[in-house]
Order: sequence, then structure tokens, then C-alpha cells
Amino acid sequence: MILDAAHDAEPIYLLLEHQGMEPFIDLNVRSKKNTPGKGESDIQISPTGIPICPNGNKMKPNGFDKKLHRRKWRCTPACGCSTAKYGRTFYTKTTDDPRLFPRTSRDSETWKLVYKRRTSIERSNKREKVDYKLESGRHRSTMTWYIRIYATMICQHKDAWYVHQEQELKGVRFEMEAFIAA
Ligand SMILES: [Zn+2]
Repeated sequence: MILDAAHDAEPIYLLLEHQGMEPFIDLNVRSKKNTPGKGESDIQISPTGIPICPNGNKMKPNGFDKKLHRRKWRCTPACGCSTAKYGRTFYTKTTDDPRLFPRTSRDSETWKLVYKRRTSIERSNKREKVDYKLESGRHRSTMTWYIRIYATMICQHKDAWYVHQEQELKGVRFEMEAFIAA
């Protein structure tokens, strides 16, 4: 499910996760306050879901465990926030906070790819509403609406066809336009 930042509210994440759907929702960051990390009181979580070590440094992503559905974070040994040889590690799980720790990380290529589909949906909506004047009909019944949206979607299909096979379909386009105008 892809939604814009206006839908960035915890209940929406919980509902979608409950229904077995993966939410793709941009963060709508209003607060600048960090929140305490789950279980480990000395680690804070930034408003964008990045763990911050006790020395105030942002931790770096360090892989994802698909089996345990948890993301690993690491602080550099140079930071000095841990005596561990490779520096402090911290784990975040989607179940801890589905909003801040989505299954697909917001800075990943997958996220960008999925989210791109949203703009194509926006374009499709614009085409139906603005170009095909979906809402300018003076009708009220559900059936008329249904017929109108159906005809609009036929036109959209026709548009897509046309782009793909412009030459071959030129004839079809003229015929269909004559049919719609009649
Ligand atoms: Zn550190």
C-alpha cells in the first residue's frame, strides 16, 4: 500500500501490518525530538528512525536480518561509545515501531522504486479528473458515474495503446473518437 505523508499516522501502519500489507508511507516529520530506543535506555531514536549512540552520533545501517526481520546498526569504534572491537551495535525491528522501522528502509532503492508508482497513480488521477473531465458531468446516479469512469478508463487504455503502436492504431483512434462523439 503506497500512501503520501498525509497518511503518516501510527494507526494506519498498525492496520496495514495487521492486514498483512506492507505500508509505503513517507514520513511527515513534525517533531525534532528523539525518542528512547526500545529496551536500551542509552540509545535514542531520531525523528526519522536513526538510532543515536550515547555520544550523540548517528549510527550507520549495517545490514538486515531477513529471518528475524531486524535491521542492524553500528557505531564506529572511533566514537568510543563502546569497548567492543567493532564498535557499538544496535538492532531495530519493524514490530518495535512500524512507522520508524518499515520492512523496506526508506533510503533504499526498492523504496524509491515502489514510491515512484505513486506519482504515476497521481498522473492517472489527473488524467481522469482534469483531461477527461470526470467530475464535470451533471449526473448523480451511481450507474451513470460507473459508466463515465468506465468510458474514461477505456480512453486511458486507448492512450497507452496509442503511445505503443502509434502508427497502426491511428485508424482505430479516429474511429473510436468518432464513436464517442456520436
Ligand atoms: Zn557512538
